[in-house]
Amino acid sequence: MYFDTAEGPVFRPPSEAHSFILRVTIGCSHNACSFCTMYRTVAFRARPLPEILSQIDAARPYAPHIRRIFLADGNALVLATDKLLAILQALRETFPRLQRVSCYAGPKDMLNKTPAELAALREAGLKLVYYGLESGDNLILQRINKGVGTAEAIAAGQRIVAAGIKLSVMVIAGLGGQAHSDSHALNTAKAVNAIQPQMLSALTLMLYRGSELLTEYERGEFAPLSPAAIMGELYQFVSHICLPQGHHCLFRSTHSSNYVALAGTLPKDKDRLLQELKAAATRLSRMTDWDPYNNVE
Ligand code: SF4
Repeated sequence: MYFDTAEGPVFRPPSEAHSFILRVTIGCSHNACSFCTMYRTVAFRARPLPEILSQIDAARPYAPHIRRIFLADGNALVLATDKLLAILQALRETFPRLQRVSCYAGPKDMLNKTPAELAALREAGLKLVYYGLESGDNLILQRINKGVGTAEAIAAGQRIVAAGIKLSVMVIAGLGGQAHSDSHALNTAKAVNAIQPQMLSALTLMLYRGSELLTEYERGEFAPLSPAAIMGELYQFVSHICLPQGHHCLFRSTHSSNYVALAGTLPKDKDRLLQELKAAATRLSRMTDWDPYNNVE
């Protein structure tokens, strides 16, 4: 649920479909990843606290029993900790049944928060952070202009987990193209192993009009993977994930960009997921034609 009239598009994770979407920023403060056009049409701005509080007040009669709230847009942790704490306090006071507040966060913003600040945010109700790791490969992170290298990308995720906030990590199959598929699979699995998130989503690369990556493709500088090769890359990725026995990481590959829907818990369901990926690779290898842009929408 969202109902404000601020500029720009609104995005949320699929699992926040029934949440109140409260826009605490407009757009993405980074707004420079070469594959992403989500917020290209809107200038980033942090919303003033009174504007946010009036949104909370306006939502009260529509959603008095709301249990979940998602702080949009692209990286709410960019806001100062005091401001976030004031927002979380207002949410707790307005919605007595509130169970979970979540947000997207970028790695630099995660690293800019001290462990004590993150612990205070967790205590105030921030229970879940969605983090676009995208890749654990240093070269790919540079090429896509993520703004951090592998070491910082891992440290950012570890900082959230150490603070006791649930972490949902998103990675993108095919992001390294044909040239870097092996290193993408291996190094992304290593990063996930080091972070040990509670949730992991594997999306598949889509080439969006207006993105630098699409321009690279059209210049012949980026060779996307075929659907079967995506399955092969995901097979390698999952096979290199080694999380401790007893760890429960919900794995999902059910985004509209994915060729095949996969779901399970890692490490428990690893063998089954690998069997499904192998079967999917065999099936998709019979395709003679596919959309290299993977523009499924
Ligand atoms: S991928 Fe995330 S951090 Fe990068 S530009 Fe898009 S919204 Fe911003």
